[in-house]
Amino acid sequence: MTAHQHCINPNCGKTFGIEEIHHACPNCGELLDVEYDWDRIQLPKNLRQFENYWVERSNPYRLSGVWRFHDLLPFLPMNRCVTIGEGQTFLQQAKRVAPFTGLNADRLFLQYEGLNPSGSFKDNGMSAAFSHGAFVGAKRAACASTGNTSASLAIYSACTNLMQSVIFIGSGKIAYGKLSQALDYGAKTIQIQGDFDDAMARVQQVSKELGIYLVNSVNPFRLEGQKTIMFRVLESLRWETPDWIVVPGGNLGNSSSFGKAFIELRKLGFIEKVPRLAIINAVGANTLYRLYEQEGLRWNGGNYDKVRVQKFFDQMTADGRKASTIASAIEINRPVNLSKCLRALDFCNGIVREVTEQEILDAKAQVGTGGFGCEPASAASVAGTRKLVAEGVIEKSERVVCILTGHQLKDPNATVAYHGTDKIFFEDVLGKRGVKTAEFANHPISVPNDLDAIIRLLQ
Ligand SMILES: *Cc1c(COP(=O)(O)O)cnc(C)c1O
Ligand SMILES: [Zn+2]
Repeated sequence: MTAHQHCINPNCGKTFGIEEIHHACPNCGELLDVEYDWDRIQLPKNLRQFENYWVERSNPYRLSGVWRFHDLLPFLPMNRCVTIGEGQTFLQQAKRVAPFTGLNADRLFLQYEGLNPSGSFKDNGMSAAFSHGAFVGAKRAACASTGNTSASLAIYSACTNLMQSVIFIGSGKIAYGKLSQALDYGAKTIQIQGDFDDAMARVQQVSKELGIYLVNSVNPFRLEGQKTIMFRVLESLRWETPDWIVVPGGNLGNSSSFGKAFIELRKLGFIEKVPRLAIINAVGANTLYRLYEQEGLRWNGGNYDKVRVQKFFDQMTADGRKASTIASAIEINRPVNLSKCLRALDFCNGIVREVTEQEILDAKAQVGTGGFGCEPASAASVAGTRKLVAEGVIEKSERVVCILTGHQLKDPNATVAYHGTDKIFFEDVLGKRGVKTAEFANHPISVPNDLDAIIRLLQ
């Protein structure tokens, strides 16, 4: 095998075979990476060579936006990889959204990951984790989810019939678009009386106890699949590195995998310039923002201040503080990939910002007006870009890529609450969250069932 699992703690550094299943290093408890013996792997001469695979689109592995880049995540032989057509996503210039962010019109690009089979970027990672689970012979796979991971697991399970899916969700904390997918695809759905962080803790225990394969982003194979989002971004820019990648931060799997992608591309000599990474939290779920920006927590070569982190979480428990934001996909207070994310921030000269509910929803409406549409969490990237341009951290002339992580139809309640005319609905759903105005609302107009009245309205 040319791949193995490797503990990211420099004081440990233990390695494990690819056929082993771990949620953390058995020796020290840190996260594991998938690592490759690149010297023994035949790689394309340059990134442009990947375009040669386009012509083989009748081959499902070449059609897949994940496995098309198998050379850069070769932990299994290609014929053991699972694909359902994920990663057919693309980067688009967003001229109509750019003015909202303050960027010059041709400088904003949106990577629309909502176009994946289950409607979010999670399919990139699930194809990889699911492949590994099936490879090690697991019969069942589980995850805790704010919604999209479960939708993704459920669709892979239904399409392939290779592993049955079990999902753990918190009570009342899931957008209906996502829950409906899990139910429709036949996932065994377990609703825990608690929030996402509770569900996450439980699923780790249960999967260990019952030998169920865990597909949350503590799974290092999952993050391998998510690297390909960056490969496709570079491909769309004809292999030029943008100045900024802006991504919402929840469990921090995406940002961690982006960092790993750039670490590897740089090490292999495929790129010279590394983009800066901006991770955007919601104010109501801002652990990373507090630790990184306010307390100055840094990766520090892997020797980050674990005591400080533990203190932070102990205080959170003591205060009974729970994550709360309308951007349910990032409503997470105990991000499992914190350490890997610190590494990504370190390598990509990264920064973290937090945005309010108002800023998220206004940005979401603008993304919609621009013809994309996304769920609330995704819009945090655009709201964060606006904030960073206003601060002068991002210059108007810089090329910025925002990741639209999930599809517009995932959470219609939030959208209708923002645009609707029903005052009570607005106040009920949004007022409690401190949203006062819907600046970009597109109110439906009520009219009698009368031809003249309708014509008058439209004249
Ligand atoms: C999962 C998810 C996120 C958060 O990504 P992390 O990798 O957990 O930080 C953001 N947006 C959407 C739509 C998601 O589904
Ligand atoms: Zn270790």
